[in-house]
Amino acid sequence: MLRARPLGEADRIFTLLSTERGKMDAVGKGVRRAKSHLAGRLEFGNECELQMHRGRSLDVIVSADIVRSSWERLVAPERFAAAQLVAELIDAFCEPDLALPEVYALVDGMLRAIAASDEPRTLVPRFSLRLLAALGLEPPADACVRCGLAFDDARAFLDADVGGFICSSCRERWRDLIELDAEDLRNLAEVAAPRGSGRAAVRARPRVAAAVEQLIAHHLGRKPRTVLS
Ligand SMILES: [Zn+2]
Repeated sequence: MLRARPLGEADRIFTLLSTERGKMDAVGKGVRRAKSHLAGRLEFGNECELQMHRGRSLDVIVSADIVRSSWERLVAPERFAAAQLVAELIDAFCEPDLALPEVYALVDGMLRAIAASDEPRTLVPRFSLRLLAALGLEPPADACVRCGLAFDDARAFLDADVGGFICSSCRERWRDLIELDAEDLRNLAEVAAPRGSGRAAVRARPRVAAAVEQLIAHHLGRKPRTVLS
């Protein structure tokens, strides 16, 4: 469950990420009453097995069984902020009713990692890059997005306006852009690497993390509302 908002007196609309239908909204009827059998199950970050039936406009949740509850571990403020950012990005980037198994697996793994982490914000750059990759928006980490040439001098600059990294020759001198050196570029490739590829890294160097943040803002068209503590 990613998000909930009240509906009428006792109901709630839940925004869910599902294996079968991707991001979707569904109604939990009477869920705000203490006696509801759904109460306490559809908490933020919980993975549930749901039974639904088709409603007039929205599907109605008939039953929910918890597969995994991360809620108790996610309420710690830093973890909560990181998990909220995940929910915000999924909500913003994913079309409703479009199953994306790769994104589901990514979110599942990310929420588990956040729930177990003491420094959850360090997990965000990798999640962001893997999400962009799953959506086909990932910028190349080894070549200029403008001229297509490799970064020969081991320097690259984030040009958030074009959603990628550019080389020294393409960079206009007057622009103040985040610059990545050889170490940063290596780190970028590792942080973006698919799981199990043998070269994946979790932790982004500071300039790489800053560059990823700007990339996300470029694709969102704004800064995320969730501020990491
Ligand atoms: Zn170039």
